[in-house]
Amino acid sequence: MAGGKPAFVALDWNGTVVPFFGLEPYLGALEIVADWRSQDLLVFVVSRAGQKTIERDVERTGLLNDGVFGCADKGPILQDLCARYGDGILLGDHPTDLRAACTAGIPFLQAGLEGQPRLSEADGYYREWGEVQLLVEALWGSTP
Ligand SMILES: [Mg+2]
Repeated sequence: MAGGKPAFVALDWNGTVVPFFGLEPYLGALEIVADWRSQDLLVFVVSRAGQKTIERDVERTGLLNDGVFGCADKGPILQDLCARYGDGILLGDHPTDLRAACTAGIPFLQAGLEGQPRLSEADGYYREWGEVQLLVEALWGSTP
């Protein structure tokens, strides 16, 4: 990552930003995302959902973002984002998210807000959004 700072943060949706479609975002998520964007970090939502379904739910919450992608496989989307903008980070909660991050060669921070068991290969694990900021900053600091 150039200068140690990622170009973007990609967010899984269900279990990561909201518990599920139609429900309120986790405490602090909207504010932290807005703060990243004010620091010129791009924010994308990448969800295994139909394009219209995920677009509508993101719009419902008012989450500020730079792009929303509904897809069957997140790996190629992340690879494309890396090619276009530079390396990023993926936040997600499921083993398929971890695999997508590995495909793109980017760090994976795992949400455990619903008690998801920690995946040993994850680069970080959080049980509340308040912890996310520190994990992301630690990744910035740890890259040359
Ligand atoms: Mg999920």
